Amino acid sequence: MQKTFDVAIEALAGAVATVEPGPPAGNHLAEALPRSPGARGVKSFYIETFGCQMNVHDSEKVAGLLLARGYRAALNPADADLMLYNTCSIREKAAQKVFSRLGEWRGEKRKIIGVLGCVAQQEGEEIFERAPWVRLVCGSASYRKLPALVDELEAGGRRVMGLDLRVEETFETEMTLRDNPVRAYITIIEGCDYSCSYCVVPRTRGPERSRASEAILLEARRLADTGYSEIQLLGQTVNSYRDPSSRKLTFVELLRAVASVEGIRRVRFTTSHPNDFHREIVDVIDSTPTLCEHIHLPVQSGSTRVLREMRRTYTREEYLEKVSWIRSARRAISVTTDIIVGFPGETEQDFEDTVTLLDQVGYDGVFSFIYSPRPNTTAASLTCAIAESEKSRRLGVLQERQRQIQLARNERLIGETLEVLVDGCHRTRGQWTGRPSSNRIVNFTSPRENLLGEYVQVQVTRAGPHSLIGEHAVSD
Ligand code: SAM
Ligand code: SF4
Repeated sequence: MQKTFDVAIEALAGAVATVEPGPPAGNHLAEALPRSPGARGVKSFYIETFGCQMNVHDSEKVAGLLLARGYRAALNPADADLMLYNTCSIREKAAQKVFSRLGEWRGEKRKIIGVLGCVAQQEGEEIFERAPWVRLVCGSASYRKLPALVDELEAGGRRVMGLDLRVEETFETEMTLRDNPVRAYITIIEGCDYSCSYCVVPRTRGPERSRASEAILLEARRLADTGYSEIQLLGQTVNSYRDPSSRKLTFVELLRAVASVEGIRRVRFTTSHPNDFHREIVDVIDSTPTLCEHIHLPVQSGSTRVLREMRRTYTREEYLEKVSWIRSARRAISVTTDIIVGFPGETEQDFEDTVTLLDQVGYDGVFSFIYSPRPNTTAASLTCAIAESEKSRRLGVLQERQRQIQLARNERLIGETLEVLVDGCHRTRGQWTGRPSSNRIVNFTSPRENLLGEYVQVQVTRAGPHSLIGEHAVSD
């Protein structure tokens, strides 16, 4: 089938439309939307997204939902009748950013300003007090109510809220607007049933609920039909998946089923919780080339004492045992992680344990964060806070050590040829960019044009800590 690498609107009801190609959307989803001039009377929307891939994908679904209701995408916030912020409150800075954005609309009367996502759920009615020009507040667990909320506003309602967290259903949309032309996301599990002491997610996204495997597979087949060949399965704890349908597929069975959808060449999944990470996951990656050679396995700390305080449900040794399964696989599976430094009471020795863990695991990438106390979390009431200057120092030490580790690991790949799915280009540098199965960033030159969405063989010629540099091996 002819591949279409235009931005796709995928109608889950069956009809599939592609729309004009747009630039990569980044946080501004609407940039990748249809550029048709607005017909008189047709309302338009603009969504700005903050935070993780889950939020990015939620925005794609909300955009699909609005398109299905007859809205069109505005080219910029000033032109939109409905301006939505899909927010993140995982760290304080992210939440503050949202309020500074909302401040730009102070006193706005013409358009509807709405706050979605984690800040909406966390702050609720407070948002109306801090920014009285906001008229819509809706947390992610209530997105299925969005059409009714928008109807209410259109019918003259002054303010509407959707903040119900006692949900059992997942957010199913009739239409999803995909703004990544190369990789398509599929949510398989929403919410979280863990209770990590630092984390707002269980309170902002609600309890864990999995989607039926049939719905996931139907979505994967439709994506393949529109030309997508790489799928990323999403969930806060993606490997805690439990099929609610009578088929009762396990996570591993679901991985195998998605990987066998015709036309799908790559399947990724994120984020895995170490507690639900079993040896079978490594085995299925080993035996299924379509499953990518990459596992994101957040550890948070290398100190068992801190892990206990964080309520992570595993010890350093248990985590390392899971990493040893990955290391003993036949395929060279890359491992990345998340780490928090400066958790209350983290001693110099605890921190040292985290630094030594970096060496012991040999991570291919680390997202490292300074601990940020969050409202209504149990860790927020711990009294032994670490000074900000010390947290920053520890972050610097950790990042420098990891930089050295990544450089050494990447240098080992010089001379190898990797299959790269091209997802962009740096015009000024004359380079293409893409990712191999391991999810590293590969920048490369090629004598060929129009490579976006192609799988190409790239020979690695140089390595940096954060990316590889190579040349297109043009025989393909
Ligand atoms: N569910 C994933 C897991 O269990 O690892 C993590 C999801 S969370 C959205 C992404 C990352 O943000 C976490 O892994 C953690 O490192 C970081 N994070 C969460 N709460 C934080 C806080 N209060 N301060 C700093 N970083 C935090
Ligand atoms: Fe937050 Fe822990 Fe749930 Fe991850 S597992 S989303 S860190 S509570």
